[in-house]
Amino acid sequence: MTKELTCANCNRKIEEGEEFTATITMPSEKSMLVGRLDTTIAKVAKKVLCKNCN
Ligand SMILES: [Zn+2]
Repeated sequence: MTKELTCANCNRKIEEGEEFTATITMPSEKSMLVGRLDTTIAKVAKKVLCKNCN
């Protein structure tokens, strides 16, 4: 179940190899993020922007 990362502004999917900006809150030690980076970011990011919208 991979939650795709999409841009909050243009709604475009962030593609492999593409740069993007994500606003993430530093998690506590207890809930430190593990696992696939894209899945993790999709779960915790408040805002994801593709490079065109950044
Ligand atoms: Zn965008």
